[in-house]
Amino acid sequence: MGYSSIRTHPFWKRWLLDKMVIEYATDSRNSRIRIEVGTLTPIQRAKALSVIVDCTACGIPMHPIRERRDGTLYYASSCKLEDNVACARGINARTDYDDMRAVLEAR
Ligand SMILES: [Zn+2]
Repeated sequence: MGYSSIRTHPFWKRWLLDKMVIEYATDSRNSRIRIEVGTLTPIQRAKALSVIVDCTACGIPMHPIRERRDGTLYYASSCKLEDNVACARGINARTDYDDMRAVLEAR
């Protein structure tokens, strides 16, 4: 069975929520943010990268916690841009990002 959101995944409240960090873009008039994942233990890191939830746009299972080349982790709410541009640029992904922001700011 899949998870419709990272916020319903069992790891979320157990420890992942505490590790999420909002980075605010200061050079934009829009309130654009990025959601990063802070320092994890090696085990947490492996678990975070293994999380699978449904894409907020198309519903296909995907990995919402992704790794950059430099090893940092970040949150994504939809399919990778190279997999499906419509998902990443769509309203659902944006809405989910806003929801994430609200949850993280309310901590
Ligand atoms: Zn998608």
